Amino acid sequence: MNVSELFGSYVFNDAVMRERLPEETYNALKKAVKGGKSLDITVANSVATAMKEWAVSKGATHYTHWFQPMTGITAEKHDSFISPVGDGTVIMDFSGKELIKGESDASSFPSGGLRATFEARGYTAWDPTSYAFIKDNTLCIPTAFYSYGGHALDKKTPLLRSMELLNTQAMRILRLFGNTTANRVITTVGAEQEYFLVDKDLFNKRKDLVFTGRTLFGARPPKGQEMNDHYFGAIRPRVAEFMKELDEELWKLGVLAKTEHNEAAPAQHEIAPIFTDTNTATDHNQITMEILKNVAERHGMKCLLHEKPFAGVNGSGKHNNWSIATDTGVNLLEPGKSPHENAQFLLFLCSVIKAVDEYQDLLRLSIASAGNDHRLGSNEAPPAIISIFLGDELTDILEAIDSGSRYSNKENADMEIGVHVLPHFPKDTTDRNRTSPFAFTGNKFEFRMLGSSLSIAGPNIILNTIIAEQLEQFADVLENAKDFTSELNSLIRKTIREHKRIIFNGNGYNDAWVKEAEKRGLLNIKTTPEALERYIEDKNVELFTKHRIFTKEEIFSRLEILYDHYCHTVSIEALTMIDMTKKDIIPSILKYEEHLAKLVEIKQEKIGILPEPEKTVLLKLSKLCKDIYDETEYLENAVFAAKNITDKKELSFCYKDSVLPAMETLRRSADEAETILGTEYLPYPTYEELLFSV
Ligand code: ADP
Ligand code: MG
Repeated sequence: MNVSELFGSYVFNDAVMRERLPEETYNALKKAVKGGKSLDITVANSVATAMKEWAVSKGATHYTHWFQPMTGITAEKHDSFISPVGDGTVIMDFSGKELIKGESDASSFPSGGLRATFEARGYTAWDPTSYAFIKDNTLCIPTAFYSYGGHALDKKTPLLRSMELLNTQAMRILRLFGNTTANRVITTVGAEQEYFLVDKDLFNKRKDLVFTGRTLFGARPPKGQEMNDHYFGAIRPRVAEFMKELDEELWKLGVLAKTEHNEAAPAQHEIAPIFTDTNTATDHNQITMEILKNVAERHGMKCLLHEKPFAGVNGSGKHNNWSIATDTGVNLLEPGKSPHENAQFLLFLCSVIKAVDEYQDLLRLSIASAGNDHRLGSNEAPPAIISIFLGDELTDILEAIDSGSRYSNKENADMEIGVHVLPHFPKDTTDRNRTSPFAFTGNKFEFRMLGSSLSIAGPNIILNTIIAEQLEQFADVLENAKDFTSELNSLIRKTIREHKRIIFNGNGYNDAWVKEAEKRGLLNIKTTPEALERYIEDKNVELFTKHRIFTKEEIFSRLEILYDHYCHTVSIEALTMIDMTKKDIIPSILKYEEHLAKLVEIKQEKIGILPEPEKTVLLKLSKLCKDIYDETEYLENAVFAAKNITDKKELSFCYKDSVLPAMETLRRSADEAETILGTEYLPYPTYEELLFSV
């Protein structure tokens, strides 16, 4: 395999464009993309033709506007290139109009009330900043999705808005520091993705996995992850084959898949790409999740992207590595070599510290989902409390700035520091803290609270927006400063003083931290319904509308969709449990009971000996079966009661406070029964089989 030939071979990337587009078209397109201008129709026609010819040469027959509705997954509607020419034959045709704008029946995508029923149309608009690609013989054109009234119906539109906002505000800061060479600031992201692989046949035997993506029942196997022998262990042949094909498929699509390894739990793995700009990283993570599933299927496996597919072993997350860089390739979160560079670094660092402290709620909200609620705060994922890990060295430096005291380390002799005399920061000052939700890792921040199935668009919209807000405030102050250095000095000092409560370098899994965080006044939002309420707090609505990331209508519509998603998820899980207990679990128990009862009868009546242990087992099972029956009924009533609630917020709390606990109770009894049932009576494959079969 020639990787460099394979890489990007199904992407209409810059190299292909330069080769296939007429020079003036190529230049016009570049100019339009750079300036965010709309494209002239003759240019669009020229691009469309070249794109089609390239796609057809690669075997494509169809094209689609590929978009990211608020379901969190991607959507596509395929049209073929064929166009009749009147004599019974067709040509392959694709116009600039078809490239730029699409119209689709949007009524089946969630809009949260943004699209009145009489206006079911939605529109898709080409996003030329993300390359088109070919998947399954279809030319996929990345697009934004919006309503007739111009409201965003997707995740890409606000993401692009937030990137533009951050660009504007960060450029103001760079100019203040005398930077005249950079023309743009972009945010960069590398998303590490965790997932499970299980055997397809076993998967299909479990309704819970099929309908909800996670196991709703299942007793712990004798062996879990306690031996730590899976993490970074040797990759088994079947998985290695899968990973090889996964890499190839992703490389063809221009995804910079770099690292593949086993994770902590049995059957758990991770894939990490090399970072790119945030828009591309978001598209690529969506593609990665899709390809993971497809390739697994071809290898007789199922890829589970659920946050918590198995109780008792680690769930899956996604690490959003985030930084800011100039178009000249400078990472703005890289500590510099000179005091001047370091002052700029510190200001950007302070913007992150202040943003995370002031908008803890939005960050928490951006990763909230029914699935992720099972991970956060349970000793495997970061706690639900947002804090920043900076490492001791950097924290000491900030402390010294705050208190105006002296600072010393191995490299720098004891010195007094302010921003004008900053020490040379030693390389890689951070150690590995795996328990922090938001960790500085040397030249980027790693936001670790994301669930594995989440679109990374949401958290990045929030990160870009809240940090841009701080950069704007800083720029406003500094642009009007009489003495830049002293104003900068006091700004950094003030920010550290007011927001250092958000910095925490200790163990986030510790109970002591929960108490300490409370003392510091940090938020501890444990569940999704509690997080969602925060969306429409005045300060948050003001932030979004002021920066035109979301209109008020868009915020309310998104909130409604999030409530719906949470409630539907729990409701489907509850109904699946009820179905499984009635149709599978109780009948299995009864069958075993019948077998035991017969034995008791034979021993007692016919042979005249003590019917033990059959009788004890029978009594135990009989009691459990009754519990399971009652608890199922109780759960049914809880679900039924929810049906009468119309207010979405109230409904989400009902699912959290009454349906979920009823599910837990039922599960406990059913799992206990599973440990007593003989193997041949088990109604579905066990954890043992699922976790150790691949
Ligand atoms: P680990 O955290 O496992 O040690 P790395 O530090 O190499 O791994 O990187 C983890 C992820 O962070 C990778 O996807 C990598 O591409 C990404 N990354 C590295 N630098 C940046 C950056 N400046 N901006 C965004 N992501 C980055
Ligand atoms: Mg990581």
